[in-house]
Amino acid sequence: MARVRLEHVTKRYDDVVAVDDMNVEIEDGEFVCLVGPSGCGKSTTMETIAGLTRPSEGTVYIGDTDVTNLAPKDRGVAMVFQNIALFPHMDVFDNVSFGLRLRTFDDDEVERRVEQAADIVQLEGMLDRMPDEMSGGQRQRVAIARAIVRNPDVFLMDEPLANLDAKLRVHMRTELQRLHRELETTIIYVTHDQAEAMTMSDRIAVINAGELQQIDPPLVCYNEPANLFVAGFIGSPSMNFVRGEVVADGLETKNFTLEFDPAGATGVGVGDDVTLGVRPEDVHLSRDADDLSRPTKGVEVTTDVLEPMGDEIFVYLVLDEGAERTMEEDPLDSPDQLLMSVSPDTDISEDETLEVVLDGSKIHLFDTASGEALVHGIADRSGSDPGTAPTEAED
Ligand code: ADP
Repeated sequence: MARVRLEHVTKRYDDVVAVDDMNVEIEDGEFVCLVGPSGCGKSTTMETIAGLTRPSEGTVYIGDTDVTNLAPKDRGVAMVFQNIALFPHMDVFDNVSFGLRLRTFDDDEVERRVEQAADIVQLEGMLDRMPDEMSGGQRQRVAIARAIVRNPDVFLMDEPLANLDAKLRVHMRTELQRLHRELETTIIYVTHDQAEAMTMSDRIAVINAGELQQIDPPLVCYNEPANLFVAGFIGSPSMNFVRGEVVADGLETKNFTLEFDPAGATGVGVGDDVTLGVRPEDVHLSRDADDLSRPTKGVEVTTDVLEPMGDEIFVYLVLDEGAERTMEEDPLDSPDQLLMSVSPDTDISEDETLEVVLDGSKIHLFDTASGEALVHGIADRSGSDPGTAPTEAED
């Protein structure tokens, strides 16, 4: 087990900055997911920890040792990749034990470790199978067992479930959590899938364009996103964003005014260009909002497309009837629409005019220019609760 620390790690490939001044500290025994869109620098970050690439600047520590210039094999790490490279002519036992034999462990020790690893990943009884006799999920478990037998201080996993079908991926997520509980080892896991990160991690490190945006427990990233990028990336479907200007009695957007006392909201001043963020589940029909502690003033909308998902219905709402009805690619560019999620038994149809309210306690305000979060949760009109100022981002 070991702590992993990146200090001012930057990696450049010619004029591409793949990782930009990354500072992260991962605790001993923690399960941390590096998550972000394709090309944001997740794999490069992982490779600098593994020793597969040298950072252009900065230092990598595993435990208290500066490993920046150590070879991968001397770092106490084991990697599991998306593409499982098993030896096709070797059975499971030989595939799992291959690395151990290179390290000249005696036969008894090899057998003990392989059996223990097979037990952990539930491959008992399959040790004499050949890779082509196994399913994708089983082969991935062989790859994980091969990492386990090395008894590493840190597991590094780069999209290990990406090639599995959706159902198996969900199943393997649970297995990896169980594995983490059993081994109590530090796991650093790369994924572009925010749902995978949300369900498995102790903390999520959200990365964009080589820069760390936020590292926090999943629900903190969800409920108190540090900036617009995290707010839009974590959560599916994505948060609604509506741009507006802070006025004396609240926020004026193109289609509605949200009343609150800006003086009570830390970091917000009259005249500021801010972006309102609200998740689909925090938009409610006014007629169903009796239990809401801080509903905003009603906004008149027209329903557009309905998407019944079984456990909820996604309702696309049009704020301005005159505006063109398209979902823009950039949600910040669609001030005329909101996505609402309602329970499946809601009596609602397309092209209906109705009134919605937003849950004031779940509204976020961001500085439009910098993207930084200004406040999570706004006061009701009496100003009784000024909302929570975002905590300072970690360096
Ligand atoms: P991710 O894992 O988030 O998809 P990567 O770490 O693979 O992102 O890549 C980050 C950026 O660095 C991308 O722009 C990618 O094209 C670039 N990059 C990664 N590896 C190399 C390389 N070996 N040579 C040149 N550019 C690279």
